[in-house]
Amino acid sequence: MEWCNWIPAKVNIHMWRSEMDRIPTAEALKKRNVQWLPDPKGEFSVKAVKKLLFEEAGQGIIFTMEWCNWIPAKVDFHMWRSEMDRIPTAEALKKRNVQVSDSSCMLCNSAEETTEHIFIACQAATIVWNGISTWCKIPNIFAFSIKDLLGIHKEIRGSEKKKDAIQGIKSIVCWSLWRARNNAKFSNIPVRIENILSEVKALGFLYFSSRSKHKG
Ligand SMILES: [Zn+2]
Repeated sequence: MEWCNWIPAKVNIHMWRSEMDRIPTAEALKKRNVQWLPDPKGEFSVKAVKKLLFEEAGQGIIFTMEWCNWIPAKVDFHMWRSEMDRIPTAEALKKRNVQVSDSSCMLCNSAEETTEHIFIACQAATIVWNGISTWCKIPNIFAFSIKDLLGIHKEIRGSEKKKDAIQGIKSIVCWSLWRARNNAKFSNIPVRIENILSEVKALGFLYFSSRSKHKG
Protein backbone atom coordinates (compact mmCIF):
# COMPACT_ATOMS: atom_id res chain seq x y z
CA MET A 1 0.00 0.00 0.00
CA GLU A 2 1.13 3.52 -0.76
CA TRP A 3 0.14 6.40 1.50
CA CYS A 4 -2.11 9.05 0.11
CA ASN A 5 -1.20 12.55 1.31
CA TRP A 6 -4.52 14.28 1.11
CA ILE A 7 -6.72 11.96 3.15
CA PRO A 8 -6.58 11.94 6.99
CA ALA A 9 -4.08 9.57 8.63
CA LYS A 10 -6.88 7.50 10.13
CA VAL A 11 -8.25 6.69 6.65
CA ASN A 12 -4.79 5.67 5.44
CA ILE A 13 -4.32 3.52 8.54
CA HIS A 14 -7.69 1.91 8.03
CA MET A 15 -6.68 1.01 4.48
CA TRP A 16 -3.37 -0.34 5.75
CA ARG A 17 -5.08 -2.42 8.42
CA SER A 18 -7.48 -3.73 5.79
CA GLU A 19 -4.56 -4.83 3.65
CA MET A 20 -3.12 -6.69 6.63
CA ASP A 21 -6.53 -8.20 7.42
CA ARG A 22 -6.48 -6.37 10.71
CA ILE A 23 -9.95 -4.90 10.77
CA PRO A 24 -12.31 -6.53 13.23
CA THR A 25 -14.67 -8.26 10.83
CA ALA A 26 -16.80 -11.07 12.24
CA GLU A 27 -14.57 -13.57 10.44
CA ALA A 28 -11.36 -12.03 11.80
CA LEU A 29 -12.78 -12.07 15.31
CA LYS A 30 -13.84 -15.69 15.09
CA LYS A 31 -10.32 -16.61 14.00
CA ARG A 32 -8.96 -14.98 17.12
CA ASN A 33 -11.64 -16.34 19.46
CA VAL A 34 -12.64 -12.84 20.41
CA GLN A 35 -15.95 -12.33 22.15
CA TRP A 36 -17.66 -9.03 22.65
CA LEU A 37 -17.05 -8.94 26.38
CA PRO A 38 -18.88 -5.69 27.11
CA ASP A 39 -22.08 -7.35 25.97
CA PRO A 40 -22.99 -10.78 27.37
CA LYS A 41 -25.05 -11.51 24.25
CA GLY A 42 -21.93 -10.95 22.20
CA GLU A 43 -23.36 -8.03 20.29
CA PHE A 44 -21.13 -5.59 18.51
CA SER A 45 -20.25 -2.35 20.30
CA VAL A 46 -17.91 0.54 19.61
CA LYS A 47 -16.37 0.08 23.04
CA ALA A 48 -15.49 -3.52 22.23
CA VAL A 49 -14.01 -2.55 18.88
CA LYS A 50 -11.82 0.07 20.55
CA LYS A 51 -10.72 -2.46 23.14
CA LEU A 52 -9.81 -4.93 20.42
CA LEU A 53 -7.89 -2.41 18.33
CA PHE A 54 -6.11 -1.11 21.40
CA GLU A 55 -5.07 -4.55 22.60
CA GLU A 56 -4.02 -5.66 19.14
CA ALA A 57 -1.99 -2.56 18.62
CA GLY A 58 0.04 -2.83 21.74
CA GLN A 59 -0.90 -5.64 24.07
CA GLY A 60 -2.75 -3.22 26.32
CA ILE A 61 0.10 -0.76 26.81
CA ILE A 62 -1.03 2.84 27.11
CA PHE A 63 0.27 5.02 24.31
CA THR A 64 0.90 8.68 24.77
CA MET A 65 1.42 9.92 21.26
CA GLU A 66 -0.80 12.68 19.96
CA TRP A 67 -1.13 13.12 16.21
CA CYS A 68 0.41 16.20 14.73
CA ASN A 69 -1.66 17.90 12.04
CA TRP A 70 1.00 19.59 9.99
CA ILE A 71 3.32 16.68 9.18
CA PRO A 72 2.47 14.04 6.56
CA ALA A 73 0.57 10.98 7.80
CA LYS A 74 3.51 8.70 7.04
CA VAL A 75 5.74 10.70 9.42
CA ASP A 76 3.10 10.68 12.18
CA PHE A 77 2.55 7.00 11.59
CA HIS A 78 6.27 6.24 11.79
CA MET A 79 6.37 7.97 15.18
CA TRP A 80 3.37 5.99 16.33
CA ARG A 81 4.96 2.71 15.26
CA SER A 82 8.19 3.73 17.00
CA GLU A 83 6.34 4.29 20.25
CA MET A 84 4.86 0.82 19.94
CA ASP A 85 8.34 -0.56 19.17
CA ARG A 86 6.96 -1.76 15.85
CA ILE A 87 9.72 -0.70 13.50
CA PRO A 88 12.03 -3.40 12.15
CA THR A 89 15.16 -2.70 14.17
CA ALA A 90 17.70 -5.50 14.56
CA GLU A 91 16.43 -6.11 18.09
CA ALA A 92 12.79 -6.29 16.97
CA LEU A 93 13.65 -8.73 14.16
CA LYS A 94 15.61 -10.97 16.52
CA LYS A 95 12.66 -11.06 18.92
CA ARG A 96 10.58 -12.36 16.01
CA ASN A 97 13.17 -15.02 15.25
CA VAL A 98 14.41 -13.36 12.10
CA GLN A 99 18.10 -14.00 11.51
CA VAL A 100 20.08 -10.78 11.61
CA SER A 101 23.68 -10.93 10.39
CA ASP A 102 24.74 -7.62 11.91
CA SER A 103 22.68 -6.12 14.70
CA SER A 104 24.80 -3.04 15.31
CA CYS A 105 23.40 0.43 14.88
CA MET A 106 23.98 1.75 11.35
CA LEU A 107 24.41 5.30 12.61
CA CYS A 108 27.21 4.74 15.16
CA ASN A 109 28.27 1.10 14.77
CA SER A 110 28.87 0.89 18.49
CA ALA A 111 25.68 -0.49 20.05
CA GLU A 112 22.86 -2.88 19.32
CA GLU A 113 20.14 -1.37 17.20
CA THR A 114 16.98 -0.85 19.23
CA THR A 115 14.25 1.76 18.79
CA GLU A 116 15.35 3.71 21.84
CA HIS A 117 18.99 3.52 20.88
CA ILE A 118 18.51 4.80 17.36
CA PHE A 119 16.29 7.75 18.29
CA ILE A 120 17.63 8.63 21.73
CA ALA A 121 20.85 7.08 23.02
CA CYS A 122 22.82 6.91 19.77
CA GLN A 123 25.71 9.37 19.50
CA ALA A 124 24.54 10.39 16.05
CA ALA A 125 20.99 10.99 17.32
CA THR A 126 22.36 13.07 20.22
CA ILE A 127 24.24 15.35 17.82
CA VAL A 128 21.13 15.71 15.66
CA TRP A 129 18.96 16.55 18.69
CA ASN A 130 21.51 19.14 19.84
CA GLY A 131 21.54 20.74 16.38
CA ILE A 132 17.76 20.81 16.28
CA SER A 133 17.51 22.27 19.79
CA THR A 134 19.84 25.09 18.76
CA TRP A 135 17.87 25.65 15.55
CA CYS A 136 14.59 25.82 17.47
CA LYS A 137 16.17 27.95 20.23
CA ILE A 138 15.11 25.58 22.99
CA PRO A 139 17.10 23.81 25.76
CA ASN A 140 18.80 20.60 24.63
CA ILE A 141 16.31 17.83 23.92
CA PHE A 142 17.09 15.02 26.31
CA ALA A 143 14.89 11.96 26.83
CA PHE A 144 15.16 8.60 28.56
CA SER A 145 12.54 6.85 26.46
CA ILE A 146 10.36 7.32 23.39
CA LYS A 147 7.47 8.23 25.71
CA ASP A 148 9.64 10.94 27.28
CA LEU A 149 10.53 12.22 23.86
CA LEU A 150 6.88 12.41 22.82
CA GLY A 151 6.02 14.63 25.79
CA ILE A 152 8.92 17.07 25.57
CA HIS A 153 7.16 19.78 23.54
CA LYS A 154 4.62 20.20 26.34
CA GLU A 155 7.38 21.16 28.79
CA ILE A 156 8.86 23.83 26.56
CA ARG A 157 8.19 27.43 27.46
CA GLY A 158 6.56 29.34 24.67
CA SER A 159 3.46 29.77 22.58
CA GLU A 160 1.15 27.03 21.32
CA LYS A 161 2.64 27.67 17.90
CA LYS A 162 6.11 26.84 19.19
CA LYS A 163 4.90 23.69 20.97
CA ASP A 164 3.07 22.60 17.84
CA ALA A 165 6.20 23.18 15.76
CA ILE A 166 8.47 21.24 18.16
CA GLN A 167 6.01 18.34 18.31
CA GLY A 168 6.15 17.85 14.53
CA ILE A 169 9.89 18.45 14.26
CA LYS A 170 10.58 15.65 16.77
CA SER A 171 8.71 13.24 14.53
CA ILE A 172 10.58 14.50 11.46
CA VAL A 173 13.90 13.91 13.28
CA CYS A 174 12.95 10.28 13.99
CA TRP A 175 11.74 9.88 10.40
CA SER A 176 15.04 11.28 9.03
CA LEU A 177 17.20 9.19 11.37
CA TRP A 178 15.35 6.09 10.23
CA ARG A 179 15.71 7.08 6.56
CA ALA A 180 19.45 7.62 7.03
CA ARG A 181 19.66 4.22 8.69
CA ASN A 182 17.79 2.56 5.79
CA ASN A 183 19.90 4.35 3.19
CA ALA A 184 23.05 3.13 4.94
CA LYS A 185 21.76 -0.40 5.39
CA PHE A 186 20.18 -1.00 2.01
CA SER A 187 21.91 1.43 -0.36
CA ASN A 188 25.33 1.82 1.28
CA ILE A 189 24.90 5.56 1.52
CA PRO A 190 27.20 6.80 4.30
CA VAL A 191 25.49 8.46 7.27
CA ARG A 192 26.21 12.18 7.38
CA ILE A 193 24.83 14.02 10.36
CA GLU A 194 24.85 17.37 8.56
CA ASN A 195 22.62 15.85 5.85
CA ILE A 196 20.15 14.57 8.44
CA LEU A 197 20.05 18.00 10.05
CA SER A 198 19.54 19.75 6.71
CA GLU A 199 16.75 17.34 5.79
CA VAL A 200 14.93 17.92 9.08
CA LYS A 201 15.19 21.69 8.71
CA ALA A 202 14.06 21.68 5.07
CA LEU A 203 11.13 19.31 5.65
CA GLY A 204 10.16 21.06 8.89
CA PHE A 205 10.08 24.43 7.17
CA LEU A 206 8.24 23.12 4.11
CA TYR A 207 5.53 21.23 5.99
CA PHE A 208 5.02 23.82 8.71
CA SER A 209 4.77 26.76 6.32
CA SER A 210 2.31 24.98 4.05
CA ARG A 211 0.21 22.86 6.37
CA SER A 212 0.21 24.20 9.94
CA LYS A 213 -2.77 26.09 11.32
CA HIS A 214 -0.11 28.40 12.84
CA LYS A 215 1.63 29.07 9.55
CA GLY A 216 2.65 32.60 8.68
ZN1 LIG B 1 23.86 4.23 17.26
